[in-house]
Amino acid sequence: MNTYTSEQLRAWDKRHVWHPFTQMQDWEREEPIVITRGEGCWLIDSDGKRYLDGVAAMWTNVHGHCRKELNEALKLQVDRLEHSTLLGLASEQSVILAHKLAEIAPSGLDRVFYSDNGSTAMEVAVKMAYQFQVHLGRPERSRFITFKNGYHGDTLGAVSVGGIDIYHTTFRPLMFETVQAPAPYCYRCELGCSDQAACGMKCLDVLEALMAEHAATCAGLVIEPLIQGAGGMIVQPHGFLKRVRELCDYYDLLMVTDEVATGFGRTGRMFACENEDVVPDIMAVSKGIAAGYLPIAATLTNERVYGAFLGEYAELKTFFHGHTFTGNPLACAVALRSLELFESDHLLENLQPKIALLGGRLESMMALPHVGNVRQCGMAAGIELVDDRESRRAYPWEQKIGVRVCQEARRHGIFSRPLGNTVVVFPPLVVSPDELDFLMDGLDRSIRTITGD
Ligand SMILES: *Cc1c(COP(=O)(O)O)cnc(C)c1O
Repeated sequence: MNTYTSEQLRAWDKRHVWHPFTQMQDWEREEPIVITRGEGCWLIDSDGKRYLDGVAAMWTNVHGHCRKELNEALKLQVDRLEHSTLLGLASEQSVILAHKLAEIAPSGLDRVFYSDNGSTAMEVAVKMAYQFQVHLGRPERSRFITFKNGYHGDTLGAVSVGGIDIYHTTFRPLMFETVQAPAPYCYRCELGCSDQAACGMKCLDVLEALMAEHAATCAGLVIEPLIQGAGGMIVQPHGFLKRVRELCDYYDLLMVTDEVATGFGRTGRMFACENEDVVPDIMAVSKGIAAGYLPIAATLTNERVYGAFLGEYAELKTFFHGHTFTGNPLACAVALRSLELFESDHLLENLQPKIALLGGRLESMMALPHVGNVRQCGMAAGIELVDDRESRRAYPWEQKIGVRVCQEARRHGIFSRPLGNTVVVFPPLVVSPDELDFLMDGLDRSIRTITGD
């Protein structure tokens, strides 16, 4: 294996790698950390410095980095078959994984359409939902109900159903239109309420009115269940998702849940929907599916949707969509081994005390004068920093308060990445209680240093 010095790697990175969601002018001025190894919840850079991975490799990591059992599963599979195709052929690992996914998914979601990442899983969901309506003889149902602050990925269809202005505004001329509903964010609520439950009720009222007006021209509704991730770790009040399901039923809209971030244990249950006994019509999963090892995604649906695509060849009811690396055997093999580890490690049971520990740590952070709001859903959390707590005045975004806190946190051996003024807590699910304390201690100290608390 070639090895190069840290200096060489940094220089080439600045010379050649265009980083996602990054102002490269800033990046080129800084000294990037180059990760060369991973170990459990830790990332190790080219100088041997260790960082606790506070964002689980962009919300994907479940069982830790370089987990022995997963490495072995990957090595075994690579000597058997690295890739074939699902266009015209079935492949062993993708068959077994689909069977397993159908078993663990909310009941009835027995049909699995593979792709490679969260955005494609959502593109598939959107196109599937629309074509379903076409097959029902309702081609005018071409729009989607979406939510303010929603995030579903960065390809054009996924951007169209998203609702984060700074990511999405530039591309508006390339996007299709949607009907956007408000989402509960009572901390800085546009609807003028201050309490979470009341905010949820108001949003549901507006949602229902929008459905009454637009359902006849909409194929479905797209939602991140329980928590809007990239929008700022914004948690929905209890019962919200269940009511959205009822409204979708009443107005005959397909409910599309984006479990790309929440799926595979993040909320404390295998899938977020289970927390409210909700079964969607279409469900997209990706990030945690192969425990952070390889890019793979799936869009699951039920017999009703699947059945509408059946017909004679000449009827052109085929779902015309597919990606080259669909159902990749290496990724499927790791995903299967990961699901076994969920069971053998009693991962979900062991998560409960850690979720409670995180809750306690978040609550005590409210003692810091510039922490305005803390939000938690299972092992995902956000700490929103404010310039003035009394008036809830936000830090001006140009101050990059979140970025500066995360930069400071590196000095305490933590890698984190903020969402605007919100500091994110999203460690690998296997994080130990001690590591979780280490993470929260480091964030606490960094927030104090940067905000002057
Ligand atoms: C990350 C994310 C996506 C996009 O996934 P990619 O793999 O980055 O394309 C979609 N939806 C949600 C909820 C996400 O968190």
